[in-house]
Amino acid sequence: MSGDGTTLLVTGARVLTPGGEWPRGWIAVEGRRIAAMGQGRPPERHRAGADVLDAGGLVVLPGFIDLHVHGAVGVDVLDADPDGLRRMARHYAGHGVTAWLPTTMTAAGRDLERALEAVGEVLGPVDRGATVLGAHLEGPYLNPARHGAQDRSLIRVAERAEATRLLDSGIVRLLALAPEVEGNRWLIAEAVARGVTVSAGHTDATYDQALRAVADGVRHVTHAFNAMRPLGHREPGMLGAALTVPELACELVADNVHVHPAAMRLLLQAKGADGVVLVTDAVRATGLPDGAYQVGDQPAIHMDGAIRLADGTLAGSVLTLDRALHNLQSATGRPLAELWAATSRNAARAIGVDDAKGSLEPGKDADLVLLDPELRVVATVAEGVLVHGGGGRLRRATPTQAATHSGRPPPR
Ligand SMILES: [Zn+2]
Repeated sequence: MSGDGTTLLVTGARVLTPGGEWPRGWIAVEGRRIAAMGQGRPPERHRAGADVLDAGGLVVLPGFIDLHVHGAVGVDVLDADPDGLRRMARHYAGHGVTAWLPTTMTAAGRDLERALEAVGEVLGPVDRGATVLGAHLEGPYLNPARHGAQDRSLIRVAERAEATRLLDSGIVRLLALAPEVEGNRWLIAEAVARGVTVSAGHTDATYDQALRAVADGVRHVTHAFNAMRPLGHREPGMLGAALTVPELACELVADNVHVHPAAMRLLLQAKGADGVVLVTDAVRATGLPDGAYQVGDQPAIHMDGAIRLADGTLAGSVLTLDRALHNLQSATGRPLAELWAATSRNAARAIGVDDAKGSLEPGKDADLVLLDPELRVVATVAEGVLVHGGGGRLRRATPTQAATHSGRPPPR
């Protein structure tokens, strides 16, 4: 049914576009892409043959993109299980995510390779789930001084044969490493040359080392504030660079546990809404009840909206991106018209897929999330397909309409 007229028509929504906010607008989807959009009532020609999704009272944003997420619903990316990855993709779609990067953490080389193979198997759209855009390698080339919940004993300097093998998978889009480690510098250049975005993460870099990292090609910062030196007024460190160097986009885990709301405000004021990339850093326990879980090989307790190792170290989050947006808005008091990019466009830009994703514009992928006024997800559309919710608001195209539209009987 694609390539031949509107397949899905979203009507009556408040629409957040790069050019501003439309109080009442429509979006016509054709196949996997946005064919047209406008304000007021949609032209009749877009109704014929289309499923109509009534979005009255809802706001439509570009589908969320999560660049940093390790697990959910009992699955971890390092399980290297394609079916598990699909279950994760469905869980995220329920929270408004339309595209994501399965993210590994520090592990042995063969375990990372197996995880990348599994990601390679599910690359692309997922049935009733969020599209897999590639993989994010968080580690193993980190700084043990800032290991956080990463397995310190497996953190290592980038060795050429191993790191090249991982990049040769061809699916790595984001690589988080400690750029101040001298033996990792070659890998920054190598990754950038291959079109992989390099992020500074689990880093103990000084401010000067951070500037050198930017000169080396680092453009992204892994969970700003976390797993790096705190901001010092004499030694601002990576965080000081993240806050002040425009080339660096900053991930933020906005769960009110990783970062205090005042620090979120500081980040937004320093970077502007275009410099902040909301991520979840979510782990296996996400979407499951409180209790005891594993993060990597380490036991962890999920309680009160956080997950921690026995010593209290945060071991990733149990956050979802809809909640993260809600928290960022509460912390900053800024309007959605300003903040929406932090859940989509900034991430798309960070990994260079903004030609197709990350904003509501004709010609781009029809990745949409419909939210109620409390920012709860009502429906998610990934690449033109309703992958979550919306049932009660959907009027399916009738065969008659389809026939009228195409001028011939509908296909059987
Ligand atoms: Zn992580």
